[in-house]
Amino acid sequence: MARILVTGGAGFLGAALCEKLLQRGDSVICLDNFWTGRPENIRSLALHPRFAFYERDVCRPLDVDVDEIFNLACPASPRHYQADPINTLKTSVLGVLNMLELARRSGAKFLQASTSEVYGNPHIHPQTENYCGNVSPVGIRACYDEGKRAAETAIYDYQRQYGLDVRVARIFNTYGPGMDIDDGRVVANFIVQALSGNDITIYGDGQQTRSFCYRDDLLEGLVRLMDAPDEVSFPVNIGNPQEFTVRQLAELVLEATGSRSKMIHMPLPSDDPLQRCPDIALARTWLNWMPRIALRDGLRRTIGYFEEQVKPAVAA
Ligand code: NAD
Ligand code: UDP
Repeated sequence: MARILVTGGAGFLGAALCEKLLQRGDSVICLDNFWTGRPENIRSLALHPRFAFYERDVCRPLDVDVDEIFNLACPASPRHYQADPINTLKTSVLGVLNMLELARRSGAKFLQASTSEVYGNPHIHPQTENYCGNVSPVGIRACYDEGKRAAETAIYDYQRQYGLDVRVARIFNTYGPGMDIDDGRVVANFIVQALSGNDITIYGDGQQTRSFCYRDDLLEGLVRLMDAPDEVSFPVNIGNPQEFTVRQLAELVLEATGSRSKMIHMPLPSDDPLQRCPDIALARTWLNWMPRIALRDGLRRTIGYFEEQVKPAVAA
């Protein structure tokens, strides 16, 4: 049984990760300041004897004795991270430095929830981990993209300077039950719009691509990365290599919900990457991992979850 700290543990991915770790017998400390996370996400875990919750900002130094740290604290939806870009940058950079210090003091293994955004608007496709990316340092996504890139810099400097045992998961777009109704990311938006009978908002011409990974596949990848042999300290892409245009996603959501919502086009936000798809050869080789849930199946499960969320909101 390991003692594990999960920062951002009340968020979409963090809460499901806490639950997975408790199920396999670990003790979990969940740290979150509820910026984008919700108390409801961890309500069912709160009474668990091996679960503790610290309401706290990851930017504040912390002293606890743990064996492993999963550092997930950071808003991930452009809507949220762009609403307070300075806090986003601080969370990524100060947050990771604090958690690395904690890992150094307590001798803990450290895993970072990094992102495909480190590749920016990529010039190579699909993206391999040795691609250094094409990121604007001054655009509206930079607080997140550059924050996560600086976090990776700090992680590998801690590894070189202090011999820390580090893991970096470059997570590609992940969706599933547990997302907030106001999350703002494309899968949540399209499903909520379809279920409420509102227009489906396609930004730009809808020909930009993303590769959507189901939550449970992603979490299995994260846990395998943490448990992998010491030599797997290089960045590893975790995502689903099946690529869809945003328009195709809208069509799938309309088909799966049976909704008659119309698709409308809205301006494409600046710096929105045109295409994104992971090369997952490293994850296959080193983690024996690949996603199992196809988009249609994952959407069905996620729609079932959102039906329960949207009904009360529409009735109110
Ligand atoms: P989320 O917004 O649902 O969860 C983030 C959590 O971090 C929230 O509970 C929030 O309250 C908490 N948080 C934010 N700033 C904090 C701070 N300063 N101190 C303490 N807690 C703070 O997002 P998510 O989709 O669950 O993403 C989790 C992590 O995975 C993030 O680091 C994100 O960058 C990374 N990631 C996610 C995706 C994805 O598609 N879901 C893709 C790439 C990377
Ligand atoms: N998008 C869209 N309509 C929406 C929300 C997003 O067309 O209501 C597009 C967005 O412009 C981007 C893609 O969907 O091209 C994925 O956006 P998301 O915010 O989910 O994540 P990103 O990959 O951009 O960080």
